[in-house]
Amino acid sequence: MLFRTVAASLSLVITLVRLHLQPSQELSRADSLSLAVIIIAYVSTLVVGLRLRRGRGGLSDAWVQVVGDVVIATGLVYLSGGADSPLTFLYSLSVIGAAVVLDRRGALWAAAASVLCFATLVVGARFLGNAPGGLMPPTRVMFVLGSNALALVLIAVLAGYLSRQLSVAGGALSAREADLQRLGRLQQQILSSMPSGLVTCDAGRRITYVNPAGSLILQVDAGQVVGTDLEALLPGVLGLAPRSPRSELVVGRGLKRRILGLSVTPLDGETDALLMVFQDLTQLRRMEDDLKRADRLASLGALSAQLAHELRNPLASMRGSAQLLAQDAQDATGQKLTNILIREADRLARLVEDFLRFARPPTPVLQQVALASLLTETVDMLRVDPLARDVRVEMATPEAMSVSVDPDQLRQVLINLVRNAFQAAGPRGHVKVALTRAENEARIRIWDSGGGITEEMMGHLFEPFFTTRDGGTGLGLSTAHSIIRAHGGAIRVRSNPEEGTEFVVGLPL
Ligand code: ADP
Repeated sequence: MLFRTVAASLSLVITLVRLHLQPSQELSRADSLSLAVIIIAYVSTLVVGLRLRRGRGGLSDAWVQVVGDVVIATGLVYLSGGADSPLTFLYSLSVIGAAVVLDRRGALWAAAASVLCFATLVVGARFLGNAPGGLMPPTRVMFVLGSNALALVLIAVLAGYLSRQLSVAGGALSAREADLQRLGRLQQQILSSMPSGLVTCDAGRRITYVNPAGSLILQVDAGQVVGTDLEALLPGVLGLAPRSPRSELVVGRGLKRRILGLSVTPLDGETDALLMVFQDLTQLRRMEDDLKRADRLASLGALSAQLAHELRNPLASMRGSAQLLAQDAQDATGQKLTNILIREADRLARLVEDFLRFARPPTPVLQQVALASLLTETVDMLRVDPLARDVRVEMATPEAMSVSVDPDQLRQVLINLVRNAFQAAGPRGHVKVALTRAENEARIRIWDSGGGITEEMMGHLFEPFFTTRDGGTGLGLSTAHSIIRAHGGAIRVRSNPEEGTEFVVGLPL
């Protein structure tokens, strides 16, 4: 179409120049014919061009084009000298055009039509005696016709062959492209739906890809970390041997701390590029720790409960005896010493009672409790506790929810946790209490600004008698733990010096 437009425009320019130069103002027959041919060329190009643009061009348009080309070529050949015309090559362009749009069959038909038109033109002009270039001898006519016909058929065969090859190659290429695209989509789907995190990096240890699960586990935005240093995202990962079986890596701090089960593999085909696949083991490890702790506590609890029980009776006798002694004591020293005996026996008895409450917690008497009011009442009551002096106590408006719990036992848990928070926060410290609903559980959050629980303490926190405080019994958290477990819930802790400490009590809704 482009060729045709150029040819038509050239012819138009030539015709106009000739018209301008000739003395008479009248159009000759040849000029009108050449203008008609030019107009046909423009109009057919425009019509088919528009149809193609609208996506409506079809096989019939291709035929119209080819026939139009042959007609235009014939017109131009006729105008430029018939058999002697220097423009007979235009027929070959029509044939090549037909091969491109209609394959070999179209090319052969175009060649046949061209030969027919050219023959008609030459022979017709001869009979009518109006050949623009004058008459030529019959042998020369035969020669011109024969050579042109042969050339056109050969061009048709060759162009048809090339066009077939081109379309076969093009077809194979688009099939490959479609395959590649399908494969790319599949790969993308697999990467984004796999539950494991996946990170790749190049030889310079710059991150090249993070899949959605990876950004979720590491709590980063994939777009922002691509191109950054791998060590910043996964510190210590380069120390792990490539191809080693799964290793564990701890990343992040505080609330973002994650334990990853990770394997590092060199990326095939790219020297030094690495592929890291990982799972978040934080929850699993936490559950394992919980189980181990519960196990340890269970055996320790059974043994110590027996012991405490055995202590209770002799202790009561000792106190009774001390009381009798106190009544009979004559002098002040005897009185003082027996009072010490009674006081210490009371303290021991309280400890034993506390311990037995932890070791053999009474079965919870469950009832539906409005958690928000229970929490508010307990916190309000604790605001006047001497430990709360100089501590800023805040309580976010709790979400209303009803939970099946033993209110007395839960109150005991809250008192233990909130008083611990007061102690940890200390004067000018800050304590926040909140109640939220999440994943089928009610979550009571008790946060303090202290943040002094070390990794080492973390493992012993819920063990009975573990205390770091003067005068502490180390039974507060263990009692809270056993009560909450008896309710089917769990207590989780997070702590670091910058972000403070948070105890989260989860109760099933
Ligand atoms: P006690 O308060 O008698 O020491 P607990 O069982 O309540 O016993 O607490 C055990 C230990 O856990 C405490 O001695 C303290 O070291 C630590 N602990 C408990 N709560 C907190 C807290 N909110 N912040 C820092 N440490 C805490």
